[in-house]
Amino acid sequence: MQENIKLLIELQEADSAIIRKKAVIDSLPAKLLSVENLFKETLSLYEKEKQKCELLEKKKKDKERAIEDINEKINKTKAHASNIKTNKEYQAHLKEIETIEKERYAIEDEILSAMEAIEAAAKEVKAEELKMKAEKDKVEAFRKEVEKETAEAEKELEELKVRRMAIADKVDSDVYGIYMALLEKCNGLAVVEARDEICQGCNMNIPPQMFVELKKNIETIQCQQCDRILYWKESGE
Ligand SMILES: [Zn+2]
Repeated sequence: MQENIKLLIELQEADSAIIRKKAVIDSLPAKLLSVENLFKETLSLYEKEKQKCELLEKKKKDKERAIEDINEKINKTKAHASNIKTNKEYQAHLKEIETIEKERYAIEDEILSAMEAIEAAAKEVKAEELKMKAEKDKVEAFRKEVEKETAEAEKELEELKVRRMAIADKVDSDVYGIYMALLEKCNGLAVVEARDEICQGCNMNIPPQMFVELKKNIETIQCQQCDRILYWKESGE
């Protein structure tokens, strides 16, 4: 096989390897992001449960403050008892205290149910917290893995670039110019095999006379349809 064609095949292999490696590197941040987004959902569930619990706590505190107000009210009412002159006034006084105490019992019941709700909510918070922490550890481990993978891929990419440059240096400059223009135009695939008389770049049938020329592997021949540089590989070569 003619040296230029051999070099072009090697160059294409090197460029294809570089393109694949770049695609791997480019895909890694999105992978990490999707794992991070899953974690955000878990985190928001945990925060929602925590907020629910805090709201219940606040409700309980408000009720406890209401009890304090009522106790004060009872004390004030009782303090007025010394001013009572008649039995009628005394009955009214007792009635008033009874009404206030009833109110207090009702609020005490509300505090009890708030406490039960808080207990249940706290259990939920704990469960969600455990889930969230486990997910967080997983995300951290995945991030480290992605960072390692990226660093390795970048190192490999640099090595591929060095190897590619060594090949490119040997290619005739005119041929190299054509190759680079094709690489740009043909989505990173400039040199393709003409297998079974078909261009492996665009699947066009290669005219018989052209195939005969190709088989000689002397000059660089381009596909009539996609312009890619064609080569013919003897089986087993
Ligand atoms: Zn073609």
